[in-house]
Amino acid sequence: MPDAKLKSRPIQAQIDLSKLEQNLSVVRRYAPNARIMAVIKANAYGHGLLHAAKALQNADGFAISELDAAIRLRNAGFHHPILLLEGFISTEELAQFKKYQLSAVIHHKMQVEMILASQHKGLDVFIKLNTGMNRLGFAPEEFPYALQSLTTSPAINRITLMTHFADADDPTGGGEVNKQLQCFNTLTAGFSQPRSLANSAAIIRYPQAHHEWVRPGIMLYGASPLTEKTAAELGLQPVMTVSSKLIATQNIKTGDRVGYGGLFQATHPMRIGIVACGYADGYPRHAPTGTPVLVNGQQSHTIGRISMDMLAVDLSHIEENSEINCPVVLWGKGQPVDEIAHSAGTVSYELLCALAPRVKKKFSDT
Ligand SMILES: *Cc1c(COP(=O)(O)O)cnc(C)c1O
Repeated sequence: MPDAKLKSRPIQAQIDLSKLEQNLSVVRRYAPNARIMAVIKANAYGHGLLHAAKALQNADGFAISELDAAIRLRNAGFHHPILLLEGFISTEELAQFKKYQLSAVIHHKMQVEMILASQHKGLDVFIKLNTGMNRLGFAPEEFPYALQSLTTSPAINRITLMTHFADADDPTGGGEVNKQLQCFNTLTAGFSQPRSLANSAAIIRYPQAHHEWVRPGIMLYGASPLTEKTAAELGLQPVMTVSSKLIATQNIKTGDRVGYGGLFQATHPMRIGIVACGYADGYPRHAPTGTPVLVNGQQSHTIGRISMDMLAVDLSHIEENSEINCPVVLWGKGQPVDEIAHSAGTVSYELLCALAPRVKKKFSDT
């Protein structure tokens, strides 16, 4: 057996759980009158489900997409409401909701029929309205049927009314958000059930959409939900820091090429470093030359194409100790993940969720 302490590669993800807790209190400051359903789908956006849930235990509930993960959460002793964002797709799954006291988003007629045909008791549901996203939810004309059927069903305990915004992150998306908001308000006017609309972006941008339950995801993890503001400007701190080390350096001459396809060609002699981090770790392969990287605490950038296990960085301006073992931060503390996402043409959500299982996580409370 190999020594468990031996690491094959120096890459790791530090998960600072105290930052998760602090970001939760930032959500409370933005939405002081709402209850908070912390969204921990996709392994808590890549941060580790149970560790994240523990750090977020002051939330009023959890929202998640995977039934097996919800059951793990219950079995780990969390007594919060746990909402399955896609509900259930079979009567076998519905039975698990009863067994583990899970709440379900109900967005489709089939689900209503399964509930009406069941012997269920005490099921909490969130009825989802499609107000323009056109992903999940009852069309406005189907809503009275859904609400009426569930209100009168002995299977149901509490009903909450919900919808989801398509454009809350976009500074020019206010028109669309207002359309969705108006559609929702019109349909639900006169009903007394609690309501839930706002994701992270809407929590910050649209206080009029807070209502009884907000559903923050990305902001808990310290990335910005808004396209025009940084996480730091919003008072959010990164939870995950992916770091690695230089495992080689090269001195290259004018005209030398770097990496697969020789995408980068030196226009002057330069020193470069090779970092143990590649797309098999979850670093985006489409990140172009110039994507920011911290080397020994100083700002640098990638050079050439990202490989499976390695990437190259410019060491021209990195003076001290930029030799083998020199520390490198790919994203996190000191290097916002939003910048990497922007450079690679994606969003922080994708980078955080796509952290590869082979990258060891280290959890800390400080
Ligand atoms: C993922 C999700 C959220 C959280 O969205 P963020 O943009 O990460 O805050 C909220 N509501 C629903 C329905 C979701 O699927």
